[in-house]
Amino acid sequence: MTQLEAAKKHIITPLMRQIARDEKIKAALLCRRIAKGHIVILRNNKRTLKKVCAVGSGLRTKINANIGTSTDRKALKLEFKKLKIAVKYGADAVMDLSVGGNIPKIRKALIAKSDVPFGTVPIYEAAASSKQKYGNFLKMTSKDMMDVLERQAQDGVDFFTIHSGVTKSAIKLLKKKGRTLDIVSRGGAILAQWMHYNKKENPFYENYDTVLEIVKKYDIVLSLGDGMRPGAIADASDAVQLKELRTLGKLAKRAYNAGVSVIIEGPGHVPLNQIEKNVRWEKEICNGAPFYCLGPLVTDIAPGYDHITGAIGGALAASYGADFLCYVTPAEHLSHPTVADVKDGVIASRIAAHAADIVKTKTAKNKDKKMSDARKKRLWNKQISLSLDPEKARTYRNRLKLQVSNVCAMCGEYCSIKLMEKCMRA
Ligand code: SF4
Repeated sequence: MTQLEAAKKHIITPLMRQIARDEKIKAALLCRRIAKGHIVILRNNKRTLKKVCAVGSGLRTKINANIGTSTDRKALKLEFKKLKIAVKYGADAVMDLSVGGNIPKIRKALIAKSDVPFGTVPIYEAAASSKQKYGNFLKMTSKDMMDVLERQAQDGVDFFTIHSGVTKSAIKLLKKKGRTLDIVSRGGAILAQWMHYNKKENPFYENYDTVLEIVKKYDIVLSLGDGMRPGAIADASDAVQLKELRTLGKLAKRAYNAGVSVIIEGPGHVPLNQIEKNVRWEKEICNGAPFYCLGPLVTDIAPGYDHITGAIGGALAASYGADFLCYVTPAEHLSHPTVADVKDGVIASRIAAHAADIVKTKTAKNKDKKMSDARKKRLWNKQISLSLDPEKARTYRNRLKLQVSNVCAMCGEYCSIKLMEKCMRA
């Protein structure tokens, strides 16, 4: 029985109890929200996770960090380092997006070292292995794709991104309407190219019942990918994006009825004033399923700083109800991320998630109160320990030799907090 099926029968599983404790909510409430499909638990039933993670309504906003090899950079050691640093700085989940090297070996090695839920985009492995097998990824068969799903499920993958919404009719609409950037999703583009070459419908759409059967066996969460997401501000909220979202809404319902948990992936590049309606659309069209935002990036013009553009959009989206943020690194649009890029991306995303949680949960504010109290008392070690990045905070604190004790080098003897302390005491 899947967690969703158990919840529909009002059964509170040990995993639900554990999550309720971590999230500080009542287990019965958590169970009711799982039963409605508004909360999902990211865990393959073959895995025992050190850090369990649920995503959805009323819970802390979670963040995901993407790691994985590229066709130009295939070193597994580097990906181990990225996994370690992502989890150290607070990633609640990681996704292996490897497309280079021995992908099954890389995936197995990374899963074995991952204490947090582990996601993949199986079409990447299907394409890469088909390229080896046939000399051209376009020759892959539907069976090749389903076989990869089964293999990855057996290896313990906790959630899958499947681009079932990239359908023939969605591509027809894309051609008719036109866009600044046609398809920017790697999985979406692989499938669109495959469909064009083979003159066939998307196998993940056509064989959706087979997909559901596989993921249900392992209680894997299906992340319905937005292969047609806007990759340019000029394309945000267009007819193509909405058409795909409506398809995902129908597929989410079929999954729910089959006892499979789903989350819905969301855009992309979206201006600030369209973020609220994008969150509303997802919740309305997909029956309240958790929303997994890729950013959103609020401008196209900041390569090198896209962890910031993604965090601005992510904070706003999460404050309106998005549940899960996929980080963006400074290398986005430019290069394969380094370990330092992964750290910057995770921290930026954590800031966004926490800023949103201040307005949407009861407990997040307490952390800020503790920091403000320590700031007032100028308890430097406490402030550092409460920081999202204590090492960086300590480095800055120690950067200059202090002339006046118990303040910092910013205002020195004119420290407003210290001056007011005397004033308020008088
Ligand atoms: S010196 Fe200025 S910046 Fe530093 S703690 Fe005091 S008020 Fe804050």
